Amino acid sequence: MTSPPRPASRHHKRPRGEGQWALGYREPLNKNEENKKNDDGLNVRQRIIDVYSKQGFDSIDPADLRGRFRWFGLYTQRKPGIDGGKTAILEPEELDDRYFMLRVRIDGGQLDLAQLRTIADIANTYARGTADVTDRQNIQLHWIEVESVPAIWEALEAVGLSTTEACGDTPRVMLGCPLAGIDADEVIDATPQIDDTVARYIGDKAYSNLPRKFKSAMSGCPASCTVHEINDIAFVGVVDEQGEKGYDLWVGGGLSTNPMLAKRLGTFVRPDQVHEVWAGVIGIFRDYGYRRLRHRARIKFLVNDWGAERFREVLEKEYLGYTLPDGPAPELPRGGRRDHVGVHPQKDGNYYVGFAPKVGRLDGDKLHLIADIAERYGSARVRTTVEQKMVILDIAPDQVDGIVADLEAADLQVNPSTFRRQTMACTGIEYCKLAIVETKGLASNLIDELERRLPGFGEPLTINVNGCPNSCARIQVADIGLKGQLVTDANGNQVEGFQVHLGGSLGVNAGFGRKVRGLKATADELPDYVERVLKNYQSQKNDEETFAE
Ligand code: SF4
Repeated sequence: MTSPPRPASRHHKRPRGEGQWALGYREPLNKNEENKKNDDGLNVRQRIIDVYSKQGFDSIDPADLRGRFRWFGLYTQRKPGIDGGKTAILEPEELDDRYFMLRVRIDGGQLDLAQLRTIADIANTYARGTADVTDRQNIQLHWIEVESVPAIWEALEAVGLSTTEACGDTPRVMLGCPLAGIDADEVIDATPQIDDTVARYIGDKAYSNLPRKFKSAMSGCPASCTVHEINDIAFVGVVDEQGEKGYDLWVGGGLSTNPMLAKRLGTFVRPDQVHEVWAGVIGIFRDYGYRRLRHRARIKFLVNDWGAERFREVLEKEYLGYTLPDGPAPELPRGGRRDHVGVHPQKDGNYYVGFAPKVGRLDGDKLHLIADIAERYGSARVRTTVEQKMVILDIAPDQVDGIVADLEAADLQVNPSTFRRQTMACTGIEYCKLAIVETKGLASNLIDELERRLPGFGEPLTINVNGCPNSCARIQVADIGLKGQLVTDANGNQVEGFQVHLGGSLGVNAGFGRKVRGLKATADELPDYVERVLKNYQSQKNDEETFAE
């Protein structure tokens, strides 16, 4: 006699392990986890120095090439000439070029002139001149050969820079406000906390095998320029009722294919506690994070399942061993700009000058030029922003006109149009193996077209262009977010195009853009499409209304 089939009931589902170490799932549950267990990503550095740089690309163990190299900011770049339609069907090795992208981490976006010139020299010597400022304050170089890597590290390390944990399942670069320490309105200067946390934990094997990447931000910027809402962990400057300066703690933000906004834990963190609270949160992620499926491995899934209350309880009881006091929420901006472009006063009477390279694209010569201009006008400090822009600090009042003229002459615009100022683009098909469409060139053309067609448009408006669904350029929180994919044109051909997301925003009214079904544009028709959307907006909006509203 056969037994009757058991009813499928969701109430009787067996709880399934997600690969959480703390619950005993120590056996690797997928290839990435297996690679990390076999050998820590940080160990690849010595092999690059001793073996791969001497014996060349073909000597690289595939598990290092496509895995551990990332722990030092190295990704193979996309082989030229492979169109976006092949991205999903080719094996990874078929997409691999023999050259690398190299990401230089710039914690807090802080550079002195020697550091900037060193990156410029490396770009010109080893990277065919390439250098892009990313929307996480890094500088990315391309066309790197493995033979050059030890010399590049030596040059970077001589000026206090590194590529350690710039990529991989690690604590990546820590975002900080470019104006930290000089902004008269800042709540707190987070530089000491960024420096301390980086010095203590970056390159520490206790935190080099995480379920996935871990993005941090620490800032007291009143414009919330480090986009705390979409970081894995963010310390946001606040002042408590006693007038003490510290941080409000946010966890679990992130975009990609399952966007989630970070949650406030409601705690007040004193500056001297920041490093241990950071270590506690990343410890929870390491131990309780979901390792079974890569697409569920970011901390946001854990935070979403647990909720803020339970997360805080585990942090305090299991990791800190003490209770954090409740604290106030930060004041958040309503829309507006977070980019620090333009000329503005510092609290010491000098000025800072923010400027807009187009979609973050620079090169070695331009980086040298920026260093020369800064020096000529008496500055020793340059910053990268989270919007693919840069800022020069410490300009005396009588030097402002001169530096603005020199920057503008180099097409580093200090008073750019809204379109130049607020359009970002990810790396795209030019170098990225996950890309489906081209981005930087297209976004650059879009800026030119919109400047020509809508010359008076002056309101804040973000246009973010991505080459695939991964959202490196933050499409879901842009006013106009463009997600690269293949679309069908009027003649029935599959061509490069975009799914459009409209009305995303951060700050008081944070929310993701609406992905209207069928709202797609081919790359060719994009300028017409965006022009139409903006003309509609201008004709229908109330005076005070932002695009997202
Ligand atoms: Fe590559 Fe996609 Fe990220 Fe663009 S969004 S850099 S195409 S992974």
